[in-house]
Amino acid sequence: MATVQERVSVGSLSDEQVDSLAASVRGATIQPGDEQYEAARQIYNGMIDRRPRAIVQAVDAADVVTAVNFAREQGIYPSVRGGGHNVVGFSTNDDGLVIDLSPMRNVYVDAKNKTARVMGGATWGDFDHAAHPYGLAAPGGIISTTGVSGLTLGGGVGYLTRQYGLSCDNVISADLVTADGKFVTASENENADLFWAIRGGGGNFGIVTSWEFKLRPVGMVYGGPIFFPVEKGPEILAFFREFIETAPPEMSGFFGYHIAPPAPFVPEHLHGVTASALVMCYTGPVEKGEEAMRAVRAAGPVALDLCGPIPFPALNSMFDMATTRNEIARMHLPWLILLLLCGVAMLSAGLAGYGGADRPHRVIHTIVFIVVITVTVFVILDLENPRIGLIRLDAADSVLLDLRQSMNLPTTTPG
Ligand SMILES: Cc1cc2nc3c(=O)[nH]c(=O)nc-3n(C[C@H](O)[C@H](O)[C@H](O)COP(=O)(O)OP(=O)(O)OC[C@H]3O[C@@H](n4cnc5c(N)ncnc54)[C@H](O)[C@@H]3O)c2cc1C
Repeated sequence: MATVQERVSVGSLSDEQVDSLAASVRGATIQPGDEQYEAARQIYNGMIDRRPRAIVQAVDAADVVTAVNFAREQGIYPSVRGGGHNVVGFSTNDDGLVIDLSPMRNVYVDAKNKTARVMGGATWGDFDHAAHPYGLAAPGGIISTTGVSGLTLGGGVGYLTRQYGLSCDNVISADLVTADGKFVTASENENADLFWAIRGGGGNFGIVTSWEFKLRPVGMVYGGPIFFPVEKGPEILAFFREFIETAPPEMSGFFGYHIAPPAPFVPEHLHGVTASALVMCYTGPVEKGEEAMRAVRAAGPVALDLCGPIPFPALNSMFDMATTRNEIARMHLPWLILLLLCGVAMLSAGLAGYGGADRPHRVIHTIVFIVVITVTVFVILDLENPRIGLIRLDAADSVLLDLRQSMNLPTTTPG
């Protein structure tokens, strides 16, 4: 059986073929050499560094049908991109075709019937943004930049799952373009086998151009992170395992380890300290949140408590400012190499100077060496971009501000 890689006809598209595709679709067709190419080929995981031959940025279902027909006729096995979060990079390839749905992000809410029509390239941030004004939401992920499509096709676990099920449990129907270029609807009553497959079976059964979701009454919630000393991690985890088993469905959360940054909202004695944390979400009545969270707060000595009333989209995007570590490393790699080479050169020149050069030269070499090595260490440690867990420090202030405002707390540093 052919593997996915074998089915990608590497480098087999001519300029004329790509031009004819570009002329047939309404969205942009981006190729190597185009100004937008570098940005368009990036996905969330900075370790994935692939160079597709062409990226079709579909603006509607017709573009998707055209791109699928083109791929089939050319014998190309295309990659499909929703939010681009797939960790191993399924949504891109080298030298092949990418059908990118990221321009298709509209979300239409029917507040009366509590449903939403969500385009195939929307993110959970787009979804939350559209549904929240009506006090509605659906179970998504815990990061708002994740794609609705990829997450739902794989099942989808998030803050609302204990109460309302997986993301895919909340799908009423989906419109898809199948590999033969047909536009079909899948629901309980129409193409039921396809409907079954796309709820957890991944992106192998067609390209979803839009979803119809059930919406749930979720607006303000009581949630956020509660930090404990790092050494309490095992106890906190053991507590959480028991607590969550009997907690009401409105209660959910997850555990993680985080390094507290020297941010204004972190008391000074905690700066740079690694802590264990429970990130909680309670969707019952907000005024009952404090009581519902009492046992969590009693699970250990609380080091920092940022849990309180918060709009659901704010909680769902609290950890968005993450930039993958490897992306930072990749961005800085040429500078790192240059700096290290300079440092080594200066060190050897400085050391050689001790053998015979005059004193001022030795001092200058040594100072330059120290400066170069310090800068290198700063770049390696990424100190210009320190972060709490995955949140960049420069973004953490605004996260805290949103959080404090939503909690009606003073927006200044705790004393
Ligand atoms: C930072 C981060 C946080 C995450 N948090 C959660 C979480 O809280 N809960 C959870 O359940 N998962 C979570 N995940 C996992 C995430 O759900 C999967 O990686 C998912 O595949 C991402 O979907 P996407 O559309 O963003 O990704 P993409 O990389 O665009 O797509 C993923 C897969 O789905 C296919 N696909 C995408 N769009 C379509 C479409 N419209 N039609 C057909 N196929 C399509 C792609 O071809 C690919 O195979 C997280 C991942 C990351 C990186």
